[in-house]
Amino acid sequence: MTDIFPSKNDKGYVYLIGAGPGDPGLITVKGLECIARAEVILYDYLANPELLKHAAPAAELIYAGKIGGAHNHEQWQINELLVKKALQGKIVARLKGGDPFVFGRGGEECEALVAAGIPFEIVPGVTAGIGAAAYAGIPLTHRNFTTSVAFVTGHESPGKEASEIDWERLSLGSGTVVFYMGIKNLPLITRKMVENGRPAETPVALVRWGTRSDQEVLAGTLADIADKAKASSFKAPAITIVGEVVNLREKLRWFDNRPLFGTNIVVTRAADQAGDFSRLLAGFGATVHECPTIRIVPPESFTELDGAIAELVSFHWLVFTSYNAVSSFFCRLHELNLDTRAIGRCRVCAVGPKTAAALAPHGIKADLIPENYKAEGVVESFGKLDMQGKRVLFPKADRARDIIPVELERFGAEVVAPVAYCNVVPEELPASAMEALEKGQIDCITFTSSSTVQNLAAMVGENRLLKLLDGVAIASIGPITSKTCRELGLAVDIEPATYTLDALTAAIVNHFHSRR
Ligand code: SAH
Repeated sequence: MTDIFPSKNDKGYVYLIGAGPGDPGLITVKGLECIARAEVILYDYLANPELLKHAAPAAELIYAGKIGGAHNHEQWQINELLVKKALQGKIVARLKGGDPFVFGRGGEECEALVAAGIPFEIVPGVTAGIGAAAYAGIPLTHRNFTTSVAFVTGHESPGKEASEIDWERLSLGSGTVVFYMGIKNLPLITRKMVENGRPAETPVALVRWGTRSDQEVLAGTLADIADKAKASSFKAPAITIVGEVVNLREKLRWFDNRPLFGTNIVVTRAADQAGDFSRLLAGFGATVHECPTIRIVPPESFTELDGAIAELVSFHWLVFTSYNAVSSFFCRLHELNLDTRAIGRCRVCAVGPKTAAALAPHGIKADLIPENYKAEGVVESFGKLDMQGKRVLFPKADRARDIIPVELERFGAEVVAPVAYCNVVPEELPASAMEALEKGQIDCITFTSSSTVQNLAAMVGENRLLKLLDGVAIASIGPITSKTCRELGLAVDIEPATYTLDALTAAIVNHFHSRR
């Protein structure tokens, strides 16, 4: 295998990378590695900007759409910039939508690199024709319908005297034809195909922003698709698929008929924890807008926690009521040059399965997980044990309720509850999520703890919160969070019976399913 990261010389090095059609998961492993390694990234309108999250923090990010003035960049200017950055000795990633060598003018960029003697590599990508067809449920070939597929530019100017497209050969036979850049020319394309022998009733599908959560598909025939597209103001970027295979979509559709497809959901969890939940929701087809209303920071002082850690061996129980409690506790152990062995024979209680899962990487299997995944459940479980004279260490959040210490002490235990982490209000909310809320584009907002609601109210103001969330379904993880919502004047629409993210996701799916 060639070394995919050769050492650059004084002429720099360029990776021409296919970003895939839109779903950021469709980039290749190699493409992602090259993005992470690049010092300069020149990216296109059609490349999903999400991918830039993988860039090195110091990388220079240049949006190619801006070169040479808004929307009006010339290919030679991009080539020139590519060459210039490489000649500065930089590793440059040129990130292009789909595949760089399919209607991407990647060939021209490569020629410029060759002329300047700059070494380069091409990293192929999933081209829109392949990606959008797959996500629309249209197999481009199928033994029963067609044996060939053609990718054709639909960008030819209608005024052009002699077409470079061989309409006759393209139209005869049963081959599937995929047009790129053809939405404006649909009347011309469909007319030419019928004039040259394709039956007018041949099925056609337009796929806009294929593979993304806002994918749109319009189906029709060569006879009516141009009018349908006009009537519904169907816009670029879209591919046009012509052929009998289009009919298979009815049977094979899988992506844009998932239960939350087209549903916009705000996730308010802390940035480093939102991922799991966002992926769950996205798996059902939702468009997720992450809007962290919590930031987890260390406590002002570690004196109390360190004191408890110093006498860890004297405790009978360690109680964790969140993922954050687990991670901050073990983080502190490591900072004190200790490891999991420091907890000795101490038994461990986790409030629920997620918290228990957070213990696993530290080599700990929870001894106790209550049936009811909240503080009340923890109390109930300990109520069944003999807690007389038992020492309990409960590393907690600064704003934790005091039900666990109070109730366990009633059972005769001695509870030490040092603050292990603080929930603070972040400095600002992401502009994109706020804009979607203001424009009324959000269908559902999720609150996974009381702090997520309280902090959002504190940041935007209670009155504005009510206005922003007017008409937005409110999903709360459980009764405590719901109570906080109601105290702020918010009616809760969705609350699962068990207090987990899986159950909350299922409840959201049910809610939107039953409304359809
Ligand atoms: N190199 C790209 C194509 C660039 S040409 C590739 O391999 O996909 C630009 C055209 O690609 C658009 O006009 C549109 O026809 C098509 N296209 C790109 N991304 C698309 C997407 N997500 N959904 C539908 N069509 C897309």
